[in-house]
Amino acid sequence: MPLTAAQSAAFTVSPTLTRAAAGALTDATLSSRFDVWFGAINVTATDLQKIGWAINEGKIGVYYDPSFLIVKSVQEGFYSPAVDSFFLGFTDTSSMWNRGIIVHEAVHAVNDMYSRAWLNKLDNEALAFVAYVMYARIKGFKGKAADIPGVVNDKAQAMLDAAFAVADAMLTSRTTSTTLEDTLRKALKELKPYRTFQREYDSLDGIPGVAEG
Ligand SMILES: [Zn+2]
Repeated sequence: MPLTAAQSAAFTVSPTLTRAAAGALTDATLSSRFDVWFGAINVTATDLQKIGWAINEGKIGVYYDPSFLIVKSVQEGFYSPAVDSFFLGFTDTSSMWNRGIIVHEAVHAVNDMYSRAWLNKLDNEALAFVAYVMYARIKGFKGKAADIPGVVNDKAQAMLDAAFAVADAMLTSRTTSTTLEDTLRKALKELKPYRTFQREYDSLDGIPGVAEG
């Protein structure tokens, strides 16, 4: 259930941003290539589409957070399984990287939609970062993490390169390996916010009115 009117007053609801977020997730060019596995979890282009449709139907909220109440910067997004809503630090969706952030958050929404409460927060993040870089590859990005605008921290760069390794393996041979997955888990745990995530769980309890099947 998205925020009540009173709760949403602190945020900005922009029909343009909402439509653009839904548009990025229902992008037909993803359908033949976007397919992410991490461990036993899979997120496909069809799953992203379901989230896009649910946004258009108002079952999932999209809120711009200009005062950084939930997100911390213009390069961040957050999906809250508690209120089934996206919070975004930006409104410009012309940037592929910003749309990639929407794809990242949509992976968390997919895991909520399927009530994957058994999924620890670390693997949920790993899957979302692999999706973020796979989106960039599908959109034609040939570089590495150091070429992504705004990646200033060495540890973040190492983590994103580990995510590229997983995504590239999947795009070229439709498979990944536990070695590549463990490298990404390790790199994520080097980043302060994710240090304790392997033993933490979100309440991924479904999205009312959104089909699980
Ligand atoms: Zn995330």
